[in-house]
Amino acid sequence: MPETFTIKNLIAGKRVDSVSGKTLESFNPADTSDVVGIAPASGKIDIDNAVKAAKKAFQNWRLVPPPKRGEILFRAAELIKKHKDELGRLVTREMGKILKEGLGDVEEAVDMAYYMAGEGRRLCGETVASELLNKDCKSVRVPVGVFALITPWNFPIAIPAWKIFPALISGNTVVFKPSSYTPVCASKLVDLITEAGVPEGVLNIVHGSGEGAGEYLVGHPGVDGVSFTGSTAVGEKLIKMRSSAGKEISCEMGGKNPIIIMDDARIDLAVEGALWGAFGTAGQRCTAASRFIVHEKVHDEFLEKFIARAKKLTVGNGLSPLTDMGPLINETQILRVLDYIEIGKKEGAALRLGGSRLSSGAFKKGFFVEPTVFSEVKQKMRIAREEIFGPVACVIKATELEDAIAIANDSEYGLSSAIYTRDANHAAIAERDLEAGIVYINAPTIGAEIQLPFGGDKKSGIGRKEAGGRGGALDMFTKWKVIYRDFSGVLQKAQIDS
Ligand code: NAD
Repeated sequence: MPETFTIKNLIAGKRVDSVSGKTLESFNPADTSDVVGIAPASGKIDIDNAVKAAKKAFQNWRLVPPPKRGEILFRAAELIKKHKDELGRLVTREMGKILKEGLGDVEEAVDMAYYMAGEGRRLCGETVASELLNKDCKSVRVPVGVFALITPWNFPIAIPAWKIFPALISGNTVVFKPSSYTPVCASKLVDLITEAGVPEGVLNIVHGSGEGAGEYLVGHPGVDGVSFTGSTAVGEKLIKMRSSAGKEISCEMGGKNPIIIMDDARIDLAVEGALWGAFGTAGQRCTAASRFIVHEKVHDEFLEKFIARAKKLTVGNGLSPLTDMGPLINETQILRVLDYIEIGKKEGAALRLGGSRLSSGAFKKGFFVEPTVFSEVKQKMRIAREEIFGPVACVIKATELEDAIAIANDSEYGLSSAIYTRDANHAAIAERDLEAGIVYINAPTIGAEIQLPFGGDKKSGIGRKEAGGRGGALDMFTKWKVIYRDFSGVLQKAQIDS
């Protein structure tokens, strides 16, 4: 059996157990007899200590010149890159996704670290002319303070990196509470960033459950900003908590992402995209494609080819090079997916492929479910409206572009969307009219790049967006300060006639 890692919290530069001594365990979802980690189950005192450490460290970190902070991030990028293989394997072992995707998860962290390291030399504001003589005016980005970062299990390295690096480059200090299903991945990432030279107290990690540790952290009076990624149900609860205290929060939440396939699409390309979108990461991506809205003229051809290809996917342990789709994360998630499959059948959708748990032989100790395809799905059905977060594809027939876009937009979510078409006008109309934070043309709904803002509309995202570019994470992790400097030596009065 591979090593079980016993990990600790990192508070004020010291690796410590929870004050209560309580622990939690993480398991390999492909084989639950493999205990991946034993982590502290933190409570209020642990969180208090971490917030206190972050508050203290903020006084110095905010004054470190951003290019110097960038040098630390650059070293972190190099270290993560050096350990990419080991970390990628750990992602697969603790979270389940296939190794290629585990390595991709780590690569996103490398990319984000390099990108944000560069932002250290680009943290600019504006200098604007004053209406008065011998006076100048400028705006500058300043850090927010202590940031609480709360992350899910499905990208156990990438999503923490998407938050930690922009938070640090901006001069904030951090209390990071990762998912209790992937504590080892989170800990290893924090170890490498610490090794890169982050001063003590600047980056703290506190393991624990959502209700036990996460909620207390979000409501903590010493926390100045919160960045949360996870389910819409939890996000909405945290939004209420923060707004009742008059404070901001940014939440990236669930999705129900559509791919439109028009009658002029390259069907084979659309089928490949649909497979990757629906069954990549076993459908456990916030941007996973779960609704396939297909023009009636190509509906049957697409469905037939899609099912034929999906049938050939090999399900298994993600560490095997033969595996196309790994397990789901846990028993709760398996039950949720199977429940939705039953709901789909009862609602009158046609189950065309899969639909069952795989539980014999090599699958016995894991959380495996078959790639599943429903046709005859109507947009009013629950399987077409609610986030399933598993490998379940719903195929819906549409009559024309306008109809397809209306179906796509008939959702309380609005994270990612896609269209397959060879008609430039169709592509342009979809780009304009799809109600989502991200639109792909001739590519599936997954595969965001880190140099652009990332986030959803409607119930998929509230607050500031993540990642790079204009409108990206720097807007979340900094606030604007305006400075007027009068060097006239006399009292000058703006807006007052002299
Ligand atoms: P989750 O909401 O159960 O948990 C996310 C994080 O919040 C975990 O760290 C958890 O411990 C913590 N948490 C849970 N309850 C809490 C509470 N009451 N107070 C404070 N923290 C709490 O989500 P999950 O199952 O880990 O992840 C899957 C969900 O995340 C899906 O809905 C998926 O769409 C979403 N997701 C969204 C994005 C995005 O960028 N939009 C990316 C990845 C995942």
